[in-house]
Amino acid sequence: MGSNARPNIDMPSHHIDGDMLLAYAAGTLGQAASIVVATHLSYCPHCRCSVLAAEAVGGAFLDDIAPEPLAQGGASRVMDRLENMPAETRKSLTEDTQTIAGTVLPRPVRAWLPQDLSTLNWSWVSPGIKYTEMLKDANGARVGLMLAQANAAISAHGHSGEELTMVLSGGYHDGAVAFRPGDVQSVDENTHHEPKTDDDGACLSLIMISGSINPTGLIARIFRYFTPF
Ligand SMILES: [Zn+2]
Repeated sequence: MGSNARPNIDMPSHHIDGDMLLAYAAGTLGQAASIVVATHLSYCPHCRCSVLAAEAVGGAFLDDIAPEPLAQGGASRVMDRLENMPAETRKSLTEDTQTIAGTVLPRPVRAWLPQDLSTLNWSWVSPGIKYTEMLKDANGARVGLMLAQANAAISAHGHSGEELTMVLSGGYHDGAVAFRPGDVQSVDENTHHEPKTDDDGACLSLIMISGSINPTGLIARIFRYFTPF
């Protein structure tokens, strides 16, 4: 396998929770979270089956959980972004060999980034850790890429709302729990955690934050670039 090839990874060990998959299938999940879900689905046949099952039963689920018109849903917008691109652009992204940290990005991520990845605006948020924002959705949730060097500690932080992290390359540990490519970690406002990247190379991850962030720690510094506290 060449260095530009997408790694042949195992089935992820940490998945999107069932409620979020249902909301994604129903088209009611916010756009930022939908990008994380769509990306995880590109790695995970297990969750793809769950979404297909939810879509297959469609109406029965939608009657219970769809407070918004489907057209407003993040999932449909994510797919629209991919499907409504000019054929030439879509082809160029599909055949794209540009990498970040040696990794070709999955299409649900790639579709939100500029054609030339060398033009990405990275902000250093901590020694060894930089961030580039992909979008802020209508609910105020943000999603972007975080690239951390080996052995980078992400200081303890708290927040209201949810934080979703999905590893694209490399890995990190949160306590004794390992997160590798395709794995998703979801934490809420009751969780204070201190993830640390592994010592065998850089870790590229997709990160989504909903709600406001307590004004301390790394995640606060990341989002201070975009929202004054
Ligand atoms: Zn999964």
